Amino acid sequence: MKVVQYAEVVIIKQENISLILDNTQIKNMFDMHNFQNETGGVIYGYKLVGLKEYRITGFTTPYQEDKVYRYNFERLDPNHLKSIKSLWVNDCTTMYLGDWHSHPSNHSSPSILDKNTWYKIATESKSGSSIYFFFIISKEELLISAYNIRGKNIFSVKLKKIMFDSRI
Ligand SMILES: [Zn+2]
Repeated sequence: MKVVQYAEVVIIKQENISLILDNTQIKNMFDMHNFQNETGGVIYGYKLVGLKEYRITGFTTPYQEDKVYRYNFERLDPNHLKSIKSLWVNDCTTMYLGDWHSHPSNHSSPSILDKNTWYKIATESKSGSSIYFFFIISKEELLISAYNIRGKNIFSVKLKKIMFDSRI
């Protein structure tokens, strides 16, 4: 695996898959972290046609019907996916690429429940992506776990918050 850091993006390359992260978006996600409760939503972006290159362009934050607890976040509100659909109507490229949530701690290790949820989403989602990405934000780090549509965990990587400071 190769992680390349630029002023505006961080690119993760694993075999023939590239995941491009916009530094500003990831910084905004880190800003959502707090020590009281978990928070979360969906991740959206696009896939370059013919390439296994994914770019995350944004994420949603909790809506009214979501369940927010100290040690759990349940994405129940239909507005997460509705908002992606309305973006798609405009540009015909934006698609659902995964879920994110926070852990109210310094580290972002997934629970068994997290892994089971990710497996279920990756095998059941019909957004058209062949890979789904799951993020956990903690105070200091971002965990990214990629699953294919057969539910296989292709890679997991932890990145430090400081990587997304565009001071290079
Ligand atoms: Zn979790």
